[in-house]
Amino acid sequence: MALIVHKYGGTSMGSTERIRNVAKRVAKWVRAGHQMVVVPSAMSGETNRLLGLAKELAPAKTGTSYDRELDMLASTGEQASSALLAIALQSEGMESVSYAGWQVPIKTNSAFTKARIESIDDVRVRQDLAAGRVVIVTGFQGVDPDGNITTLGRGGSDTSAVAVAAAMKADECLIYTDVDGVYTTDPRVVPEARRLKTVSFEEMLEMASLGSKVLQIRSVEFAGKYKVPMRVLSSFTPWDIDIHEEAKSGTLITFEEDEKMEQAVVSGIAFNRDEAKISVVGVPDKPGIAYQILGAVAAANIEVDMIIQNISKEGKTDFSFTVHRNDFARTMDLLKDKVVPALGANEVTGDAKICKVSIVGIGMRSHVGIASKMFRSLSEEGINIQMISTSEIKTSVVIDEKYMELAVRALHKAFDLDQA
Ligand code: ADP
Ligand code: ASP
Ligand code: MG
Repeated sequence: MALIVHKYGGTSMGSTERIRNVAKRVAKWVRAGHQMVVVPSAMSGETNRLLGLAKELAPAKTGTSYDRELDMLASTGEQASSALLAIALQSEGMESVSYAGWQVPIKTNSAFTKARIESIDDVRVRQDLAAGRVVIVTGFQGVDPDGNITTLGRGGSDTSAVAVAAAMKADECLIYTDVDGVYTTDPRVVPEARRLKTVSFEEMLEMASLGSKVLQIRSVEFAGKYKVPMRVLSSFTPWDIDIHEEAKSGTLITFEEDEKMEQAVVSGIAFNRDEAKISVVGVPDKPGIAYQILGAVAAANIEVDMIIQNISKEGKTDFSFTVHRNDFARTMDLLKDKVVPALGANEVTGDAKICKVSIVGIGMRSHVGIASKMFRSLSEEGINIQMISTSEIKTSVVIDEKYMELAVRALHKAFDLDQA
């Protein structure tokens, strides 16, 4: 008998019919002798619908407690789908109970809308499992030290599931979604993308952080920290497929590197449309400018991603960096009002129509010329590179948003990712 955690995403929970399917699948796992904890997301579209209602009432943030209320609101989506799944399981003859984050409890910090899990108490869940119940734990939510409901950031149910699996030392965490695994790139953008049978933890971490939304990055961080065996697979297979076949399907996140040695240098391509570029133009080139610009941005709690400083001409330079699009207007205002006058720079310009495209692969460590191959492939498509950043296992470029799909397809082909 194993302890297994299943996570079902929004599309997998998208209708009562789909919820019934999930219940039948989970019941099959119980009948095979496993103890089951299930973490569902809200029904697809529900989180957007709820947050949209808030936006109708208050288009911009209205005060310090606004984010608290957003979490009160958005967390209801998961509460509803969890109760529905428990009811569906009961109608399949399974004893089942659902718990909101605060009932477990899943304790988080107080960073509303992007809270971090600090601890999970598994006593209550274990008691139910021992009594033969299937336990449903709401995804995406927790409770802060003051008893407020918090949410974990968009896509956060992945993180709830892996964190529950880690806390309970589960034998495996299976992330059921609307694709049958992790692909070389988003199969919605490149139909030739191939499913990876395995992906190393390090590559998955990079892909998630660079924009592959198939897993929330914090779930991958948890899996790495606690070595949670984790697999991404489809919830759209018939629920009654052979359980052994199902258990081996999808993509396994691996922690050993050796398995990958023979494989492709580049394993995947990620892209991200969530960033915006800002340039401070005509800054007097003297020691301390990076600190003056980025120090002010950091003091406003705004995260910076890529940074580039041009070679100076006649004692002046341009300094560019990217921030999340949600922070774009705030950063522009901050620079215009405070930093540009203090620095004596000419102006601030901004461009929200950019995207970041990245190639990822642990094989890049031991091969040279990978980045230049990427740049050549983009130049052959006439795509101008605005910024570059590299690490041991990835190279990212910022380009005009309108070339994103073209770039991803060209790179996918250039690195032979469509070849089995
Ligand atoms: P869920 O609701 O199950 O959490 P998500 O929409 O969050 O599902 O994640 C699944 C989606 O991630 C897929 O439908 C796919 O479009 C997208 N995706 C992005 N990059 C990849 C990738 N490399 N492999 C597979 N899917 C990807
Ligand atoms: N329902 C939440 C969202 O849409 C969490 C999740 O689906 O993982 O972001
Ligand atoms: Mg998701």
